[in-house]
Amino acid sequence: MIWNETAECMSRDERTALQGKRLKAVVERVYFNCEPYRKRMQQAGVTPGDINSLEDIVKLPFTCKQDLRDYYPFGLLSSPMSEIVRIHASSGTTGKPIVVGYTRNDLGVWNEVGARCLTAYGLGKNDVVQVSYGYGLFTGGLGVHGAVETIGGTVVPMSSGNTDKQILMLRDMGVKALCCTPSYALHLAECIERSGIPRSDFQLKVGIFGAEPWTEQMRKEIERRLGVKAFDIYGLTEITGPGVGHECEFQCGTHINEDHFYPEIVNPETGEPVAPGEVGELVFTTLTKEGMPLIRFRTHDLTKLNYDKCECGRTSVRMSKIMGRCDDMLIIRGVNVFPSQIESVILETEEFEPHFFITVDRVNNTDTFEIKVEVKEQFYTDDISGMLKLQKKLASRIQSVVGLNPTIRLVEPRSLQRSEGKEKRVLDKRVFCN
Ligand code: ADP
Ligand code: ZN
Repeated sequence: MIWNETAECMSRDERTALQGKRLKAVVERVYFNCEPYRKRMQQAGVTPGDINSLEDIVKLPFTCKQDLRDYYPFGLLSSPMSEIVRIHASSGTTGKPIVVGYTRNDLGVWNEVGARCLTAYGLGKNDVVQVSYGYGLFTGGLGVHGAVETIGGTVVPMSSGNTDKQILMLRDMGVKALCCTPSYALHLAECIERSGIPRSDFQLKVGIFGAEPWTEQMRKEIERRLGVKAFDIYGLTEITGPGVGHECEFQCGTHINEDHFYPEIVNPETGEPVAPGEVGELVFTTLTKEGMPLIRFRTHDLTKLNYDKCECGRTSVRMSKIMGRCDDMLIIRGVNVFPSQIESVILETEEFEPHFFITVDRVNNTDTFEIKVEVKEQFYTDDISGMLKLQKKLASRIQSVVGLNPTIRLVEPRSLQRSEGKEKRVLDKRVFCN
C-alpha cells in the first residue's frame, strides 16, 4: 500500500521539475520575508532570479545549527507570528534550545509525510498504534500522533516513561505497532520478558523506531526479542520532525519524502557535494515549508543516497542507515570511532547484552578508551579466568574493527542505566580538560 502514489511514485524527471519549481518559490519566500536569509544571499551575490532549476541549489549558502541559535527564538521565521500555530524545540545539547514554528499548512505536510511512513509499514485505519516517543516540545510524540490520526488508525498517546503502564497498554489495547527509540524498545522487550506475560497476549507486529542511530544488528535483536518487524523512521526538528524519511516493506534504505525535503550529501569538511553514492553529511532544503523554511541545512548526520527505483514502487531516493552524526565521531589516539561500530561488534558477540557505555578521557597526555558492557546472565560467573577470556575476546574484536584496543569492563546484566528516550552512550571527559 502506498499513501500518495502520485507524489511517491512519480518519475525522476517529473520530480526534479517539481523540486525545481518549489525551490524557486521557497527561495523567494525566505529572501523577501526573512532578513538573515536575504543578507546572507546578498553577501554570497545570489538573488532569487539566479535560482531557476534544482541544479542552481549549489549557489545558495548553507544554514547551520548555530544559525538557529543565533536567531533564537523567532529570527528565522518567514511567516508572521499570526500564522504560526505550533512551536517545537529540540533539546540542543548545549546552550539555547533550537526553536521551530509551524503554520497550519506545515502541520498538514507533516501529517501527510507521517501518513506515508505508516502506510509503508503496512498500517491502516484498523490498527492501534502506541506512541511512546515523548510528547511536548520534542517533535517525536505529537509528530507520529498526527500521522496515526491522518491514516485513521487508533492512537494510544502514551508518551515516554512508566514502563509497567506501557506494557499494560500494549497488551490491553491490542496494540499492533509501537513507536519509540530503538534503545527504549530493547528495554521494553527486556521488561516484558521479565514480567512473564506470554508473547501470545500481545498483538504487536510492527516497530517504528528512530530519533537515534541504530545498526542492522540492533534491528535483528529487537525483532527477535519483541517479535516485531522493525522499521526505521527518520526526522529532525529543524526540518519538521519524524516523517522526513521511512523504510518500506523491503527494508532496503530509508525513503526520503523528497518532494518536500530535498536532500544533498556534502563533504562535512569542505561542504562540496560528494560523488554519487558516497558517504557524507546530509543537507536538507525544505521545499514547501512556510513557517520556518530552511535552505541547505547541515544536519551533521552521515549517510549516502541511492537513486535506484525501489521494489516497492516508490521512486523516492533512499538513504542508508545513519552512521552517526559527525559530532558523535570520537577521535581517540587519532583514530575515528563511531559508537555504532561498537554497537555492531557487541551485538555480534553472543555473550553480551546490547547495553554498553563508552568513556573517553586523557591521562598523561594519552587518550583512554573504556567500554563498560553487560554480560548475559548465563555467561556471568565468578570464575575470573572465564571473565578475563571474555574481556580479551571483545577487546580483540573491537581492535580488529576500529583499530584500537579498548579497556573492557564487564558488568552485571541490567546494571547500566536504561533510557526512556534517546540513549546516551558516550562520555568524553576530554572536552572538559582541554
Ligand atoms: P536533537 O538534536 O536534540 O537530538 P532532534 O529530535 O531533532 O533533536 O533529533 C534529530 C536527530 O536525531 C537527527 O539529526 C539524527 O541525528 C537523529 N535521528 C533521528 N531519526 C533517526 C534515525 N531513524 N536514525 C538515526 N538517527 C536518527
Ligand atoms: Zn521501497
